[in-house]
Amino acid sequence: MIQAIKTQTQTQTQTSTAYFKTLKCKECGAEYELKASNVCELCFGPLEVKYDYSALRLTVTRETIQAGPNSIWRYRPFLPVATDNVIDVGTGMTPLVRSHRLARRLGLNKLYIKNDAVNMPTLSFKDRAVSVALTRARELGFSTVSCSSTGNLANSTAAIAAHAGLDCCVFIPADLEAGKVLGSLIYSPTVMAVQGNYDQVNRLCSEIANTHGWGFVNINLRPYYSEGSKTLAFEVAEQLGWELPDHVVVPLGSGSLFTKIYKGFNEFAELGLVEGKKVRFSGAQADGCSPIAEAFKQDRDFIKPVKPNTIAKSIAIGNPADGIYAVEIAQKTGGNIESVNDAEIIEGMKLLAETEGIFTETAGGTTVAVLKKLVEAGKIDPDETTVLYITGNGLKTQEAVQGYIGEPFTIDAKIDSFENALERSRTLDRLEWQQVLV
Ligand SMILES: *Cc1c(COP(=O)(O)O)cnc(C)c1O
Repeated sequence: MIQAIKTQTQTQTQTSTAYFKTLKCKECGAEYELKASNVCELCFGPLEVKYDYSALRLTVTRETIQAGPNSIWRYRPFLPVATDNVIDVGTGMTPLVRSHRLARRLGLNKLYIKNDAVNMPTLSFKDRAVSVALTRARELGFSTVSCSSTGNLANSTAAIAAHAGLDCCVFIPADLEAGKVLGSLIYSPTVMAVQGNYDQVNRLCSEIANTHGWGFVNINLRPYYSEGSKTLAFEVAEQLGWELPDHVVVPLGSGSLFTKIYKGFNEFAELGLVEGKKVRFSGAQADGCSPIAEAFKQDRDFIKPVKPNTIAKSIAIGNPADGIYAVEIAQKTGGNIESVNDAEIIEGMKLLAETEGIFTETAGGTTVAVLKKLVEAGKIDPDETTVLYITGNGLKTQEAVQGYIGEPFTIDAKIDSFENALERSRTLDRLEWQQVLV
């Protein structure tokens, strides 16, 4: 509490030291000033934020982190923002839950669940990246922010822009789940529902970004935005008692989250905040959109774009920007990238709910189902400390499970009606329910 107040007073008076220095091309290494840009002018490779690690090493310790706010901003020196005047809506520091019942069901001894289904303010990990992107957008002088989104990103951008008083226009595919559309509209941004899939939405936005002078969090602000996802690595390391896990299982849309968790673990090791070790990185996709899993399985060094067709809409990206980097990381860490079908995704959602009390969306169901598949294939050792990343909330994708989860017993407000229904509930087991509903 005292710390939080102190930070707030500093906000008014002090510009803190920034440790991010340039934007660097991941392909050719060309460096650029810290502007709103995501592509190398020389080779069209993606740009990434580069830090001064020797300066960071001199100031950041476990203690300075622990003395920070109870949000992603405790890791502020690792994030690409220049002042302490950050947009802090309580994003981050979500629970890392030790799994007992799911772990037993799968035959794992040390399974943890990082639960971003309860992240703030909009119940997905995207709030992390957007808190960083909009703080940076404000520093760069943007008054309108935007994004191309599979749903969750639009929710985060709209909510956090509302909090910060920024104008907001979000772009989504027109066929998204009702909860994801409503979850943007409530904050009163302009919502453009595009007749097309995410990849078409994204292409349109890339054109608009060049003409309207808006800050697109996942396009011209992408280098800053994507860094916010590193906090999912930092928190897990801190919550495990300053140790790295042995294995992580992460959903893959564009592949950005996957690569940034990897970067986050490496930064902590590089600075001596944790002991370095090889963390195995495994990724999860849906069969109906698995360009990264396909490239991994065929040992290719390029991604073949696909046309998505799956209920896991939040990860339905047919032409994933960071796909190839995700393949490289899975390869060099001894991980795997797998995909599962829509029925398995629904089973994954139900399994997590009934074993752990966590209601995740389709992307989470995909990750649970892939974890199960990897364990059954002997690709996760039962004694590895494994972290399952749950990135979104099931209340946003209710359509996916409707018809698969039974129905309430409707009864009269009378004891015998209740007794009668209780009797029926005891004879009707789960499987029968499913048959009844089919
Ligand atoms: C966006 C999203 C992902 C995928 O993130 P990428 O960085 O695009 O790979 C995973 N889960 C949920 C819930 C998402 O909204």
